[in-house]
Amino acid sequence: MKHDSDVLVAGGGLNGPALALALAQAGLTVTVVDAAPERQRAEDAFDGRAYALAIASQKLLAAIGLWPALATQAQPMNEVKAFDGRPGEGAAPFFLHFDSSELDQRPVGYMLEDRFLYRAFLDAMRAEPRITLIPATSVTAQEGVPGGIVATLSDGRQMTVKLLVGADGRRSGVAERAGITREGWGYGQTALVAAIAHEKPHDGIAYQFFMPNGPLAILPLTGNRSSIVWSETDANAEVIAALDDEDFLALLRPRFGDFLGQISLAGPRFSYPLNLTLARAYAAPRVALIGDAAHGVHPIAGQGLNLGLRDVAALAEVVVEAARRGEDIGALDVLTRYQGWRRFDSTSLALGMDTVNKLFSNDNPILRAGRDLGMGLVQSIGPLRRGFMRQAAGLSGPLPRLMQGRAI
Ligand SMILES: Cc1cc2nc3c(=O)[nH]c(=O)nc-3n(C[C@H](O)[C@H](O)[C@H](O)COP(=O)(O)OP(=O)(O)OC[C@H]3O[C@@H](n4cnc5c(N)ncnc54)[C@H](O)[C@@H]3O)c2cc1C
Repeated sequence: MKHDSDVLVAGGGLNGPALALALAQAGLTVTVVDAAPERQRAEDAFDGRAYALAIASQKLLAAIGLWPALATQAQPMNEVKAFDGRPGEGAAPFFLHFDSSELDQRPVGYMLEDRFLYRAFLDAMRAEPRITLIPATSVTAQEGVPGGIVATLSDGRQMTVKLLVGADGRRSGVAERAGITREGWGYGQTALVAAIAHEKPHDGIAYQFFMPNGPLAILPLTGNRSSIVWSETDANAEVIAALDDEDFLALLRPRFGDFLGQISLAGPRFSYPLNLTLARAYAAPRVALIGDAAHGVHPIAGQGLNLGLRDVAALAEVVVEAARRGEDIGALDVLTRYQGWRRFDSTSLALGMDTVNKLFSNDNPILRAGRDLGMGLVQSIGPLRRGFMRQAAGLSGPLPRLMQGRAI
């Protein structure tokens, strides 16, 4: 059977391009179809979103050749401090402090703005002869045929490939059409996201304040800037999002505190309604899911993209090894190896973050006392604390080769 490409990736967000590059560099041909026009995210002014990339994710970006273009834009993160608090009250006495000097790994991660990461992916895909990029086009239908799968695009084109990968986000059409159902729930919370400029340097420290309505993360960007992810109840967030910039800052100040001096907005503001969505399978015949299409999680620990990049590294390794052995890369037994590697890990992390969010987005005095005690315990028990740090740095569990910075 003639195939138009070995692999078709539906979704050109972040995980789709990462997978396309990893596969193409190992010799496979890949088509990436993205519903969004490619200019939209690469524009310079689009600077609200930023990701806390674990060190294992940075190693993957280095292994697929992206890091030289990103290194000067990335802010190393050396410490994480978490506090239980209420707006305007200052920090509670119990807190967690993760310092990368305790691991043999410094820094523990990097903060990287979406505009730089997306631009680097776009440039690398354009430079890779084995990748065909089709922007502003959707995958609208898919049908298995002997020896392949036929995908129909919104412009009427049909493509036959060996493997269709759903990297099409939380409402994955690829998953739905493959009969993969989902479970999950809304958090009743919305994340307000913005870049904030401040007077004093952040020294590469990330802060997490657990407030009764949801966590506020203050994450270091390059220069005297930080990215905030401020989770509020949906109703509050709607009101706050509608405020003008000055009123927004007036409300943020008592939560943010004054430890970084005067603050101001350094870019536009964004809102993201928060929900949990977990696909019940990551594989079906000739179909695999990665990234948010497989698991959309709460941003409380900044792990969503990191989990997705782990999928990328694991699926690329499984598929490339299968191709080298002469196996059919779309066969269900090949894709089940990928699912077995990733599904338990992602589901347990997603549910862990769900529990932390529920436990901390609460002003119940008994829960407060319990969680403060828990934080105090983790803080005082060195091996436990270092275990959490290794988890956050993406260094725990069986790491795919790309996440160790090695070629497949
Ligand atoms: C407030 C917030 C803060 C976050 N902070 C962090 C953080 O600090 N660290 C971290 O690791 N993660 C973080 N995340 C999570 C991270 O943003 C996501 O996990 C990540 O962006 C998912 O990437 P993706 O490529 O899987 O999906 P998406 O970015 O959703 O991309 C999906 C793509 O698929 C395309 N598409 C959809 N349907 C179709 C179709 N039918 N055909 C073709 N294309 C289609 C869309 O156009 C889109 O480009 C955060 C998330 C939020 C909401």
